[in-house]
Amino acid sequence: MIGQLIDGKAIAAKLRGEVAVTANALRGRGITPTLAVVLVGDDPASAVYVRSKTKAAREAGVEPRDFKLPATTTQAELMALVAQLNADREVDGILVQLPLPPHLDSDAVIRALDPAKDVDGLSVTSIGNLAQGKPTFVACTPKGCMRLLREVPVDPAGLRAVVIGRSLLVGKPMALLLQNANATVTMCHSRTRDLADEVRRAEIVVAAIGKAEMVRGDWIREGAVVIDVGMNRTAEGKLVGDVEFTAAAQRARAITPVPGGVGPMTIACLLENTVEAATRRRQ
Ligand code: NAP
Repeated sequence: MIGQLIDGKAIAAKLRGEVAVTANALRGRGITPTLAVVLVGDDPASAVYVRSKTKAAREAGVEPRDFKLPATTTQAELMALVAQLNADREVDGILVQLPLPPHLDSDAVIRALDPAKDVDGLSVTSIGNLAQGKPTFVACTPKGCMRLLREVPVDPAGLRAVVIGRSLLVGKPMALLLQNANATVTMCHSRTRDLADEVRRAEIVVAAIGKAEMVRGDWIREGAVVIDVGMNRTAEGKLVGDVEFTAAAQRARAITPVPGGVGPMTIACLLENTVEAATRRRQ
């Protein structure tokens, strides 16, 4: 390894510490920052995510409120819960764990969230604000990637950035954040003609594809900063990213590992958004 390892675990711990300071200050004013976590059905991976979110919340001084609904929940029942949480003055943030069971319309649920409580940053209002460069709740994973860049440190202004992946959860908000930070951004996806060629030009690479080590190490420009969002399980059960780490680390100036890079940042940013929501709502 030649490049700097971007230690997401340590940076996330630092961020959770910052969140705890704000949460404690709010508690000192009689405000308990509260995050409602809605889980529908019994998808084991979602249950694991929800458990880690509630544990991290508690440790940072954010009060988690769990709402576990059966897989048979109807759209009307879920919408009624969202309406109840929107109206609850004590709830600062609402997280609806995705994916929802297939009979439920997640777009409609996200549309129904009060934008002031949309700590996942997925609502049309949040994404619209981001596109306009206005302050808003930013989706937690891309927000975490920006914090990692800040910690390297790297200022994206004027740099060529390539974002691979255009999901609403990661790629699209990531590209907007980099543009807002004055990078020159290229979005790549499954129809990009020559991905290697695009990556070779990039001074910042963000890979959010979901394909194990698809971005080859020799595509990475010397001195580039590489943020690997991908989380892929190999046949041997190993967790790997979207970037061929060992080879890429020989060329990159700084690179995130998988695991221990972007992953821990996502939950820390969710908590950061929640204390931000509590602060804004109670001002
Ligand atoms: P997604 O919705 O499946 O999007 C994947 C994107 O990759 C799509 O835009 C797709 O292009 C693009 N893509 C697929 N094959 C490609 C190829 N051969 N060349 C170039 N682009 C290609 O996935 P996601 O939700 O954004 O997640 C991406 C990865 O990040 C996954 O591994 C996921 O597990 C991980 N993730 C990690 C965290 C974390 O906290 N660390 C959070 C969220 C996601 P098209 O649009 O053309 O189909």
